[in-house]
Amino acid sequence: MNLGLYIHIPFCRKKCFYCDFPSSVVSEAVYADYVNALCREIAIRQKNMPEAVLDTVFIGGGTPTVLSAGQLASILGCLQAHFLFTNQTEITIEANPGTVNREKLAVLKAAGVNRISFGVQSFSGDILRQIGRIHSGAEAVEAIMNAREAGISNINIDLMYGLPAQHITDIMDSIQKAIELGVRHMSVYGLQIEEATPFARLESQGLLQLPSEEEEAAMYEFVTRFLPEQGYQRYEISNYAVQDAKCCHNLKYWHYQPYLGLGAAAHSFFDGRRTANTADIKKYINALQGQNAVLPVGFAEKLDRETAMAEFMFLALRTTEGCAWQAFYDYFHMDFFIKYKEIIETFSQKKLLEVTATGIRLTSLGMQYGNTVFSSFLPD
Ligand code: SF4
Repeated sequence: MNLGLYIHIPFCRKKCFYCDFPSSVVSEAVYADYVNALCREIAIRQKNMPEAVLDTVFIGGGTPTVLSAGQLASILGCLQAHFLFTNQTEITIEANPGTVNREKLAVLKAAGVNRISFGVQSFSGDILRQIGRIHSGAEAVEAIMNAREAGISNINIDLMYGLPAQHITDIMDSIQKAIELGVRHMSVYGLQIEEATPFARLESQGLLQLPSEEEEAAMYEFVTRFLPEQGYQRYEISNYAVQDAKCCHNLKYWHYQPYLGLGAAAHSFFDGRRTANTADIKKYINALQGQNAVLPVGFAEKLDRETAMAEFMFLALRTTEGCAWQAFYDYFHMDFFIKYKEIIETFSQKKLLEVTATGIRLTSLGMQYGNTVFSSFLPD
């Protein structure tokens, strides 16, 4: 059985001002204990599903590359010692440009990494300082060039728009730079102000100077028009790739396929159940210590059929292909045109959804207001 596997590394050098991801700044002394715990979890999980073959692996965070080259190689070695892989398994690692050098990238390549995703956000030093990143634009350029030199040519960069002090020329320049650098995939996100972040505090005090709605809309319009013109196909609301460079791991999430999540705070979806490991790093390490090691699961739920059908719909609708009638029917033995007749009619009239030869998809307007459509599928 083919499976995607996600590994969470919950550490960062410094928290960015907008970030609410499960990651924290801890003493480097904790890293070794965490890597040991991860290797124990890998062994236990594999024993529970000996038939699993990993066709995608995604090491995310946090900042996985705060770990040393040796620690990252030992996680990958441990995975390969326990699980079966295909001969084309996509192995992605997320990296912060301020935490990689040529040597580390060469070790990652030798350990099997064949895709790298850099959190760049912008190539402008001013903007990077405003959002609390630890790297400069020049360091991001250097990291991308070093990755390619190390033999990892399948490169994604994350970029952001709607940032404090950002003008449309910044996002234009950043995208142009990424194209010149030959990156094959771009994930471009609008800034969201998340609770309990420094940006949320500044906003509540009226101290966060964000672009106007019109400026932000112009940035969105530029991104969604310019990238496809340059050969980067938009295949999900925020994701663009040149041919054959779509992220196979992320496609599993949107195609409602099973995946395992290992590490503190990691989520799994398997056999109609969603589970999550404890987000508490100490508890995670302690649970996996000693003879009586146990899986550090902090949350588990069996999805009821209504919720599962809703999730299937709105995850598939994130992609530009949309939701295929046949795929939904194969999974639930149900016709979604009947099940969701009213929703489909309502949003088709509003020009947010359209019927295709294979099912339904968001229109380009719908891509902008996806959340309104998605929430309508959820049971009351
Ligand atoms: S590096 Fe990434 S995970 Fe870490 S604080 Fe910044 S945005 Fe969040």
